[in-house]
Amino acid sequence: MANKNAPMGVVFDLDGTLYLGETVIPGAPGAVADLRARGARLRFVTNNPRKSREAYAAKLTQLGIPAAAEEVLTSSNLMVRYIQRSTPATWGSLLVVGETQLQQELQAAGFELTRQAPAGTVVVSFDTTLTYQVLTQAFLALRGQARFIATNPDVYCPTPEGGLPDAGALIAALKAATGRSPEMIVGKPSDFLASELLQEFGLPADRILVIGDRPETDVVLGRRMGVRSLLVETGANKPARLPRQYLPDARLDSITSLTGYLDRIGWGER
Ligand SMILES: [Mg+2]
Repeated sequence: MANKNAPMGVVFDLDGTLYLGETVIPGAPGAVADLRARGARLRFVTNNPRKSREAYAAKLTQLGIPAAAEEVLTSSNLMVRYIQRSTPATWGSLLVVGETQLQQELQAAGFELTRQAPAGTVVVSFDTTLTYQVLTQAFLALRGQARFIATNPDVYCPTPEGGLPDAGALIAALKAATGRSPEMIVGKPSDFLASELLQEFGLPADRILVIGDRPETDVVLGRRMGVRSLLVETGANKPARLPRQYLPDARLDSITSLTGYLDRIGWGER
């Protein structure tokens, strides 16, 4: 049997797993505190590109789940990393279909942004400020030579009001108009994110766990990392039956059941 006290890493989804909108999921602070007491390294990963790592760390902390900005990964942050990891000069000027947060992070990393086609690269994201003019410039750039990358594949973002069209919907619109698809979508469940997380943890795959409420992003991320995945049933969708590629290692009614699960599999001692 594996050493109970060997280091472990846990990747958390945020919305639907630790909180719902502005409300913490009952038991989530205790479950995360229990993991820290067991010595786990944590990462909080969201496909939402609209806020900074610091803002998510502050939100979690305020909800009773103390977290550091360095433990948070957003799809804006991942986009910057992705462009930096390849040869940055090959991307040219970036035409961003996205909000201030993404634009600022790209600018702070030294990339040149443009509002007009032609562009080196079109970066598509979750953009509640989108105008027809920006969509048209992205269309024209993609009809030309621009490369095409995106932050996250989600087609809608759940909200108490019924949801908002997300980056996946804008990708689909541009795909319909140009016939082109992004060469990379950096957020969950990309191979890029999977390898970033494995590198950051620096742990054997059998000591890492991914936990989230969306099979098509959270479970698939766990599978791509080659680690255990847990599906919680506190999120927006609670599918009764799952296709084989979305099957988690276990389903939990809520994050509250994580402590019992870790005890059952013999991970860590409190
Ligand atoms: Mg979620």
